[in-house]
Formats: sequence, structure tokens, C-alpha cells
Amino acid sequence: MHLQALQRRYDDRRGSRIERGYDEHHERLRLLCFRRDEWRCRGCGWEPDVVRDCRLAGIDAPPAEVVLDELRRAKVAGERHLHADHVVPISGRNDPRRLDLDNMQTLCNLCHARKTMKERGLRPVARMAVPVPER
Ligand SMILES: [Zn+2]
Repeated sequence: MHLQALQRRYDDRRGSRIERGYDEHHERLRLLCFRRDEWRCRGCGWEPDVVRDCRLAGIDAPPAEVVLDELRRAKVAGERHLHADHVVPISGRNDPRRLDLDNMQTLCNLCHARKTMKERGLRPVARMAVPVPER
């Protein structure tokens, strides 16, 4: 399981994501997007526990690396996490909106899945709303 998770992380960074235009520029922009939105989903207000706990305690959010690590862990584990979403979907690497912070918003994976399905003209599938915990 652990090795699988590592492999997935590696795959995520390496191949298709980069081909689709998710390079280091996008990584930087993604971070700016999360920070601007204070790590909170613009769709439903969900935020990672590490962020929420700090906010409720009245202290600053943890360092970005800590939150990003937590988001990576949650994604691999099939738990709720955050996306830096393109408000207007981009057509590829050369789309000028690709690296435009104004075209980005923080969405949790559930809101992101709903939005993506709407864009593709599909109706949301009920089971998308409740992630099944991995055993
Ligand atoms: Zn959401």
C-alpha cells in the first residue's frame, strides 16, 4: 500500500500532469491560489483540518509545505482534499488563462468533481458525494 501510494505520487508529478500543462509554474500558481483563498473551498467552505484547527485556535495557518503534504496524503488516501481549479477551463499548455491567478479558485475535490461534470454536460453521480474509506 505504501509503495503504491509513493508510485502514485511519482506518477502524478511526472507524466500526464506535466503534459497537460501542470508544470512548476502551475505548481507555484496553485500555491498562490490556495494562500489567497486561505486553503478554503470556494464552493462549500471546506478546509483541511490542519488549517481549521489553527483558525479556530486563532493562530496563523501552518507553513504551506505542511498543508501541501497533508493535501497530498489525503489525495492518495482517497480523502477530501483541495484543487486549484481553472474557473474557465483551459485548452492546453498554450492557453493564456493557464497561468492567470484570476482564473483560479480553490475547490475541494467534491465541488471540483461536480463542476467538471457540469462542464462535460453530465449529471453528478450520487456516490461522488461520499468517498468510500479505503480498507
Ligand atoms: Zn467544496
